[in-house]
Amino acid sequence: MGKQKIIIVGGVAGGATAAARLRRLDEQAEIILFEKGEYISFANCGLPYYIGEVIKDKEALLVQTPEKMGQRFNLDIRIHSEVTKIEPAEKKVTVYDSQRKKHYEEVYDKLILAPGAEPVKPNLPGINSKKIFTLRNVPDTYRIKDYVDNQKPEHAVIVGAGFIGLEVAENLHHLGVKVSIVELADHVIGPLDLEMATLVHQHLQAKNIKLYLQDGVKSFTENQSHLEVDLQSGKRLKADLVIMGIGVKPETKLAKEAGLQLGQTGGILVNEYLETSDPHIYAVGDAIEVTEFISRQPRLMPLAGPANKQGRIAANNVYGKKEQYHGVLGTAIAKIFDLTVALVGNNEPNLIQRQIPYEKSFTHSGSHAAYYPGALPLSIKLLFHRENGSILGAQIVGFAGVDKRIDVLATALQAKMSVFDLEKLELAYAPPFSSAKDPINIAGYTAANILKEDARIFHWNEVTELNPEKDLLIDVRTPEEFALGSIARAINIPIDDLRERTSEISKDKNIHLFCQVGLRGYTAYRILAQQGFTNIKNLSGGYKTYQ
Ligand code: FAD
Repeated sequence: MGKQKIIIVGGVAGGATAAARLRRLDEQAEIILFEKGEYISFANCGLPYYIGEVIKDKEALLVQTPEKMGQRFNLDIRIHSEVTKIEPAEKKVTVYDSQRKKHYEEVYDKLILAPGAEPVKPNLPGINSKKIFTLRNVPDTYRIKDYVDNQKPEHAVIVGAGFIGLEVAENLHHLGVKVSIVELADHVIGPLDLEMATLVHQHLQAKNIKLYLQDGVKSFTENQSHLEVDLQSGKRLKADLVIMGIGVKPETKLAKEAGLQLGQTGGILVNEYLETSDPHIYAVGDAIEVTEFISRQPRLMPLAGPANKQGRIAANNVYGKKEQYHGVLGTAIAKIFDLTVALVGNNEPNLIQRQIPYEKSFTHSGSHAAYYPGALPLSIKLLFHRENGSILGAQIVGFAGVDKRIDVLATALQAKMSVFDLEKLELAYAPPFSSAKDPINIAGYTAANILKEDARIFHWNEVTELNPEKDLLIDVRTPEEFALGSIARAINIPIDDLRERTSEISKDKNIHLFCQVGLRGYTAYRILAQQGFTNIKNLSGGYKTYQ
């Protein structure tokens, strides 16, 4: 192969990875990396923590400088350089050097696009106020931090309750700012399902964060000292600072104007080799449309892990290897105050929309053995195929040990395992870390029981549909637990009295059992099933999930 000239557009996650990988493969290639901003390879994911002073050192956000990276990898890195035009037929780009204020052209053999995604800024009245910010890069972060340091805002409104909005909320709260969050949906973190997000709502409220769900911003109005944020519901919030975090959209202008094909989600269309519709142009990261690993449906997935992996694969392919990108699982995790929230794969709306037959289980295990100090609740929702039990998605909310469980499930999902495999996984155990039956095993047992019909279940949202004439709700927890609150119309027969009290239960009724998290309900189910009751169901995830 002759000496290749490779141009890369975008110098952060996808672009910088591709550049470094290319150099490792090919000492001869001429590699030019264009970045329109001042910084390359910075830590986007760390930006909220600099605002909150968890990361104190400005330099820590800059993983690489153009000089150091340029030298180490022998790259021609040009910052303040925006690629403004691609001419695929001539294999040529036009670049605007914003410092010298001039345009010039460069030709390429291969081009890699990694321009990322930009925050959505809706066209609302008052949106251009100097008190309203978005957070994408290092200059945005410094602007917000300077504003917080100098103006000392008392009230902040975060618009949009995605991961970034919530991370910023936590960091502003950490600095003593009173934070309100406005979210159009009925729950925070879009990809999470409602009942799992409810655990996050409770936690946010416990931290004195005001949540305005199913509400949107109508307008912003400057007052003398602050901004009035008017909501669609008619509510009015006071803000000294507003952060817009309502999502990002792929940067596709350049690709579109060059005639490259876009996908149905609006991202740049690529094939499994990350080639765009032009064979000399590759694209990676937040700007592209990816294929979801299980359903093979198109999706946008603005996450750092996929961007880095795609950068490496695109570089391999530019070099001449033929490596495929297998698609995205959507594995994601965030710290939200003391909670950790993590998810992988599909959620329920995805599965319904794609008409994939599924079942779900809820388990609430301890993060480690209950008798060893410090065990904390860990809630797992597992989504799996109704016929073969293959894992389709998972969501975990807890305080400790969430990260390793989601990574086990992400690995299981990628290996196309089923819930029956989760039952058998031999995971590391000692009391400070787990239980002899790890929460993943418990989730596997519970899901497998559902499929094997060892225990039929009903879900929290079916409770309102129960008919008092035909359906009997039995709370098998202790009288003390029952007294603290139960489901309306439920009777209390504690599990330890059940064998003696079965005569009180009519065999003509549909019996709906529940306990706190589902385990005692399951034991009660097995007792009744072996006494000849046939019409029994246990509440998945118990009263905790119902609540
Ligand atoms: P980027 O990293 O955004 O890089 C694109 C670069 O291209 C930009 O620097 C841009 O200036 C440049 N560019 C664009 N157009 C041009 C042009 N025409 N010419 C020259 N340069 C151009 N993901 C996670 O997985 N976990 C997290 O915890 C997480 N936290 C985040 C927190 C924040 C505040 C933000 C903003 C993002 C976070 N992300 C997180 C998302 C993650 O950062 C992105 O998915 C990832 O950076 C995407 O990589 P990319 O290379 O596609 O784009």
